[in-house]
Amino acid sequence: MDFQIKLQVLADAAKYDASCSSSGSDKRDSKDGRGVGSTEGMGICHSYAPDGRCISLLKILLTNYCMYDCLYCVNRVSSNVQRARFSVEEVVKLTLDFYKRNYIEGLFLSSGIIRSADYTMEQVVRVAKVLREEHDFRGYIHLKTIPDASEELLAEAGRYADRLSINIELPTEQGLTDLAPEKDARAIRRSMGRLRWRIDESRESRANPTTRKPLRFAPGGQSTQMIVGADATNDQAILATSANLYGNYRLRRVYYSAFSPIPDASKALPLKPPPLVREHRLYQADWLMRFYGFSADEIVDPKGGMLDLDMDPKLAWALRHRERFPVDLNKAPREMLLRVPGLGSKAVDRILSTRRVRALRSDDLARLHVPLKKILPFITLPGHSPGATLDAASLAAQLRTPPVQPDLFG
Ligand code: SF4
Repeated sequence: MDFQIKLQVLADAAKYDASCSSSGSDKRDSKDGRGVGSTEGMGICHSYAPDGRCISLLKILLTNYCMYDCLYCVNRVSSNVQRARFSVEEVVKLTLDFYKRNYIEGLFLSSGIIRSADYTMEQVVRVAKVLREEHDFRGYIHLKTIPDASEELLAEAGRYADRLSINIELPTEQGLTDLAPEKDARAIRRSMGRLRWRIDESRESRANPTTRKPLRFAPGGQSTQMIVGADATNDQAILATSANLYGNYRLRRVYYSAFSPIPDASKALPLKPPPLVREHRLYQADWLMRFYGFSADEIVDPKGGMLDLDMDPKLAWALRHRERFPVDLNKAPREMLLRVPGLGSKAVDRILSTRRVRALRSDDLARLHVPLKKILPFITLPGHSPGATLDAASLAAQLRTPPVQPDLFG
């Protein structure tokens, strides 16, 4: 098959995987070759680090053949799509060519499962090994790992990759049984546990000043992807699964990928994708769990188990807990300030540092660059008290802002 066609097929097949952000990795190349070049072209995806850094990755599959038959996947064995396969040498050459031209800063490599989990994983690892050992490649490498592959291969993958990911695929074990019967939820968790153990071991060795040769293992940690809307799992259950993954396996990120209908889909799947804004609300809720001290079970309204699509989850929580507001900006503890709708963690830190020297006044709010319309009903400070305007129904009507085009990384 013509190389260009292979590239088209395998880059297109990779677009369904959302789990590729390169945040949190040590940069291997701090001296040269790190400018971002052309951002056009197939197979190049953009990922955003939490610090806002935009990076480009060549995002491809080694092959879109797969012996498994996960119903939601366009690459499943029963799918009627054009198939292609790269050799290890082809992926290596492509990566180096793109990197040298500054098209990319790294590689995200995944694969359908061919012959066996171990055989496929060996091929994926070999790409990274050849890049690192034979070509001294300093760019970023994110490898998708196959949960059924041997522990030795997972260990080898972590030596060459900056980040590893294992897709949990569906939020519940039942969902996996129904839609991906060949996948084993216990094997996925077992492999995540093994990665966590090795990542922790490597961090400890790097943090120990007496270690002569620190262990290197996926310094960017591990991540996963969950498909949203392929089954009936509600947002509450999805967030509970995420909390469990963050807590038990110390994942760096859980990515939420709205299910997209595929050709010749099984009748077990919905005909339409979920609204994209649902994915956006899940990312916001995920952020609240990781950085704002919210627990999974308080973010979603237990009545329906779903996040409100018309307002962000922090505002929805505040409206359900009017008794906790208004908070006094000059007295409230950090944990409570973080719960004020519209106040981000940076604004909270600035409030706290100002409070150390003097009391905050109303005119300080303008300098915080925060959305006043959203914040004012929830706070008091000298010269401002929301008084009777703190009524949940009227506030909800005023503050509902259905996003037209969600900014998933904002
Ligand atoms: S194992 Fe992966 S590539 Fe294969 S059908 Fe399932 S989701 Fe698709």
